[in-house]
Amino acid sequence: MITGVPDESQVYLNGAFMRIGEAHVSVLDRGFIFGDGIYEVVPVYNGHAFRMKEHLDRLDRSLKALRIEPPFDRAGWIDLIEQLVARAAQPTCFVYLQITRGVAKRDHAFPTTPVVPTVFGMTTAFVPPGPAVREKGMAAIGIADERWLHCEIKSVSLLGNVLAKQQAVDAGVDEVIQFRDGFLTEGSSTNIWVVKDGTLSGPPKNNLILEGIRYGLVAELAAEAGIPFEMRPIGQAEVAAADELLLTSATKEVLPIVTFDGQPVGTGRPGAVYAALRAAYDARIAAL
Ligand code: PMP
Repeated sequence: MITGVPDESQVYLNGAFMRIGEAHVSVLDRGFIFGDGIYEVVPVYNGHAFRMKEHLDRLDRSLKALRIEPPFDRAGWIDLIEQLVARAAQPTCFVYLQITRGVAKRDHAFPTTPVVPTVFGMTTAFVPPGPAVREKGMAAIGIADERWLHCEIKSVSLLGNVLAKQQAVDAGVDEVIQFRDGFLTEGSSTNIWVVKDGTLSGPPKNNLILEGIRYGLVAELAAEAGIPFEMRPIGQAEVAAADELLLTSATKEVLPIVTFDGQPVGTGRPGAVYAALRAAYDARIAAL
């Protein structure tokens, strides 16, 4: 058994459901050889997928960017997600989907003869952030963003993100906040939000960040809560001088960052904008 994948959950690989230990992929799979593939992570609460349409829209965008013919249409993806959830050990879980270009002789260029994309799906346990971390908040450090220039693609080529996250671990903090040319991009696997004088800001959606599914959601929740919201380039000094910093992802939902580079953010306690967004997020989950 692999940690995080209860052995009673079934995974999907290329048309069949099976135990994770029975799922095997060729060493010539271009996902293994080149990282030539994409993925999605859809949070599921008590059997209900959250923001599934938005996740599948992003999956389609990622496949298009890699010029991989979609292995399923929308109804097919939804059916696969439902089947994985039905076979999951617990009803609150993540559905992980990965599609690679498929198996071919090792050559950088796309295969010239048609290959069938590899489609893999699994569910993993999801324990939403509990009261302790919601109240205590997270610690982050700033680092230079050294990744490539297509961060908008949810590619399985995650080496830059892996090395960034390890910098957080090595520094004994929860997350990094990355800066490219002095401007905020994102965390290693989260989007980052800045609050100053009651206004919530996020960096522009472009090729330098992954547009988290919570990107659109944060804009909606801010509008509902009457919090002014804007997307604009945000300099490193503004992050350091923020009243509040927040991070979002499917895994972390929305959480406060209370220290940045060892200094307290604002009061050093989760702030009012966080509290409003947190409540609005919880209400969306409760309404599923
Ligand atoms: N940026 C990066 C680099 C990520 O890996 C993630 C997590 N998928 C996010 C942002 C947040 O995206 P989401 O809200 O869809 O989880």
